[in-house]
Amino acid sequence: MKVAIIGGGLAGSLLAVYMARRNYEVHIFEKRPDSRKVGYEGGRSINLALSHRGIRALEDLGVADEILPLAIRMRGRMIHDLQGRQTFLPYGKDENEYINSISRGGLNEALMNIAERYPKVKFYFECPCLDIDFEQNIVYFKDFNFQADVIFATDGAGSIVRQKMVERGFCKDNTDFLAHGYKELEIPARSNGEFLLDKHSLHIWARDSFMLIALPNLNGSFTVTLFLQNEGEESFATLNTPYKARQFFQKYFPDALALMPDFEVDFFRNPVGLLGTLKSYPWKAHKTLLLGDAAHAIVPFYGQGMNASFEDCYLLDKLIDEYNQEWEQIFEVYQKQRKKDTDAIADLALENFIEMRDKVNDEDFQRMRKLEYFLENNYPDYHSKYSMVTFHPEIPYSVAQKLGNKQNEYLLELCQKYQDIHEISLQEAYDSLKNLQKQVLT
Ligand code: FAD
Repeated sequence: MKVAIIGGGLAGSLLAVYMARRNYEVHIFEKRPDSRKVGYEGGRSINLALSHRGIRALEDLGVADEILPLAIRMRGRMIHDLQGRQTFLPYGKDENEYINSISRGGLNEALMNIAERYPKVKFYFECPCLDIDFEQNIVYFKDFNFQADVIFATDGAGSIVRQKMVERGFCKDNTDFLAHGYKELEIPARSNGEFLLDKHSLHIWARDSFMLIALPNLNGSFTVTLFLQNEGEESFATLNTPYKARQFFQKYFPDALALMPDFEVDFFRNPVGLLGTLKSYPWKAHKTLLLGDAAHAIVPFYGQGMNASFEDCYLLDKLIDEYNQEWEQIFEVYQKQRKKDTDAIADLALENFIEMRDKVNDEDFQRMRKLEYFLENNYPDYHSKYSMVTFHPEIPYSVAQKLGNKQNEYLLELCQKYQDIHEISLQEAYDSLKNLQKQVLT
């Protein structure tokens, strides 16, 4: 069995391990040079949040123990208000529910190293795929062609394979760009290597229509990301001089600015990235399948793009056994089962943008999170929407979305009614939530 994987990014490298475990011959074709030799080019975020859906795949492959030490645990959101006050909102019900900040380059390289331990795995770098003959399973490159038995396209949101599928009528796609872009900055470590902010939090400076976040890195620094409108009065377009950029940060993020000695340099060196939601379907053309961002790129506000891509690989692997390597049938079943869930996480990610940038400051919302925290601690079978998405891979994204939104509607109403959540009967709230669950799941 000769497998071609187009794109050796996060999904491609993980999929290579899955395929190699089956003793297949695995050929991964990557457009970029080998980052282990020339350094990681980046281009997307420097670090990202790895959570249970991604970890489930790593555990399934027996490599979680090797990967997780590369990450820093983030136990909740640290909300920074305009006065510099910090409020901690835990993500989960206890110390065991956290997300993990991990370097994109470090994770990608670790997965490539793990894949290469299998003798039949070969990476080809600086080898961009140019085209595919979907009927014959032939992949075209500049100087050679490759005949495969089955082809996986994990070549990211701008997938050339998807473009060719669309051109030939196998697939339809649509990308909705957000009016916001993002720019990465840095809070360095103190000279003795210490973190300048709490290292076990995802820091958020939410300012209604825009926000700043910071995720910790192993070397004591934080990667800071500004999400801001591309155009308009306060936007990337108008922050066009060092003075204006500094004034803007001084006004909205003074405590963060004080921790960024190279602010102006970073601000004008680092590009503004685009953010969009890509939906496509069908994902299969004969024995070629789109996976990961190539099939469903989402905005980063739930920290789920990579996790969903890893889940793609996990779910596909289960179907290979179930349908005994009948590839066209496997791909058909896979795409039918998976589409509703990737659509759901795409919508959840957009909804979470609103939650992160303006609801976290809202008092009713903060009370609702506190109430949920009590509920989750007193009733182990109650899970908040965030918890379902992030910590419970056994709950499909589409169920988490439907049930989570209903739960939030109910709880928010309750918190608007009671200013002190201790006046709320937890048992009554729990019983009502259980009823909601029954309604949604039947
Ligand atoms: P990519 O990582 O984009 O990899 C595609 C690979 O294909 C690349 O190596 C590329 O060089 C290669 N390639 C492209 N074209 C070709 C070609 N023609 N031939 C050969 N190779 C090719 N997700 C999370 O889960 N948690 C987070 O916290 C998170 N934060 C994010 C923050 C930001 C700012 C952004 C933009 C995204 C974030 N994501 C996050 C999403 C995550 O980055 C993606 O979902 C993930 O990278 C998808 O992996 P992939 O392998 O499908 O695509």
